[in-house]
Amino acid sequence: MEVQYICPTAYDSSVYLVNRKVLIDAGMNSALIIKELEKYIKLNELELIILTHCHYDHTAAAASISEKSGAKVGIHKADLEGVNDEYLSVSVLFGEKSPTVKPVITYEEGDQIPIGNGEFLEVIHTPGHSRGSICLYEPASKSLFSGDTVFPGGGFGRMDFEGSEPEKMLGSVEKLTKLDVKNLYSGHGAPTDRDGNKQIMASYRMLSMMMGV
Ligand SMILES: [Zn+2]
Ligand SMILES: [Zn+2]
Repeated sequence: MEVQYICPTAYDSSVYLVNRKVLIDAGMNSALIIKELEKYIKLNELELIILTHCHYDHTAAAASISEKSGAKVGIHKADLEGVNDEYLSVSVLFGEKSPTVKPVITYEEGDQIPIGNGEFLEVIHTPGHSRGSICLYEPASKSLFSGDTVFPGGGFGRMDFEGSEPEKMLGSVEKLTKLDVKNLYSGHGAPTDRDGNKQIMASYRMLSMMMGV
């Protein structure tokens, strides 16, 4: 699997271009992100935009990127209504209207999304940060795209947003500890190409402590 890390500003989510045809999250600033993408591909080569969850910082640019590239947009079914809701998408916190993107594909636990070269991303439903948060696992390279569920260094996503399900977060992170992960591509901050398992275990321990388990 080939991955390009695209992060145009400090406020956008991390955006990943996978195998030159699938985008994982879209960020907020479509003009800058399209400019970055065009360093690697022609925009019409983009086939799919997968949103790890419905939050504005990951989804605001998806409408424009999808329109200009023709790429379809997918999200977990439990976050579908959240995308176009000012509170569930947290766009109000950015002083903006909710994203206008209309995902046409919905995912659920266990779905395998083909990404070319015989490779696929497995959908892991990890509610907590939002109802329909997903992580995406690519087994051949042991890579995990973790959205805002876990971050390198023992971090994890906030659970105090509209639509958060804090009672489900520990179970979600525990699911991730069962995977064999080398490369961790999270929704904010630079990716890391070593010790994915250790990083996820650190997040699990921090979260357990916070939850008093
Ligand atoms: Zn985020
Ligand atoms: Zn988020």
